[in-house]
Amino acid sequence: MITGPQSSKFDSERHRMVEHDLKGRSITEAGVLSVMGRLLREGFVPESYESQAYADCPLPIGMGQTISQPYIVALMTQELRLNHFCEVLEIGTGSGYQTAVLAKLAKRVYTVERFSELSASAQAVLGRLGIDNVEFYVGDGSAGWPKKRTFDRIIVTAAVPKVPEQLIDQLVTGGLIVAPVGAGGAQELIVGTKREGKLIERVACDVRFVKLVGKHAFEE
Ligand code: SAH
Repeated sequence: MITGPQSSKFDSERHRMVEHDLKGRSITEAGVLSVMGRLLREGFVPESYESQAYADCPLPIGMGQTISQPYIVALMTQELRLNHFCEVLEIGTGSGYQTAVLAKLAKRVYTVERFSELSASAQAVLGRLGIDNVEFYVGDGSAGWPKKRTFDRIIVTAAVPKVPEQLIDQLVTGGLIVAPVGAGGAQELIVGTKREGKLIERVACDVRFVKLVGKHAFEE
């Protein structure tokens, strides 16, 4: 169930995004289409970018970071094959838009952000939308969730040179992880399944993300 306002002056832009940018590409998951078709993305971008909230590209959100392109949010969510029993770890809260999409499709989301300013603003937006199944943590997500535990799904929304072992350790056997992996400015979006302690990986597509800066990722 989506709570909060469900229509806005950007209804036609949101409709265009779903029909053209999501359904027009490889997004077929009904849950993903339904949630993104109702969640008001303009609430997650700075006011000056409101009118571009449904554009087919990333947008600046402050602190040198970006809100991901809608299609990439949809694709990563679709690849996670979520259900309402899933506990999800998200590394890189950013604007909180991806967090909100996950929260609507999973049981609970645990999200880590390096910048307290971004985490606070995401918490405020999700609070206004009445989304209450999210735990926020400010710190280095390259080491995973601060408490030792496992998750059914893990999503990394910033580029990593390789998937940190610390994250693989926090994934249940049979669980899925989605992450942009690559050393340069461009990466491959990998989908990994954990089997016998290791990831079986496949590449979903080429992507371009900001870097995950942390102990087990990139240096400052
Ligand atoms: N899904 C978000 C993407 C934000 S960009 C959105 O669509 O809004 C990636 C985010 O990862 C940025 O907010 C950045 O600050 C954060 N980040 C970078 N390194 C991190 C780290 N080591 N731990 C947690 N978050 C990190």
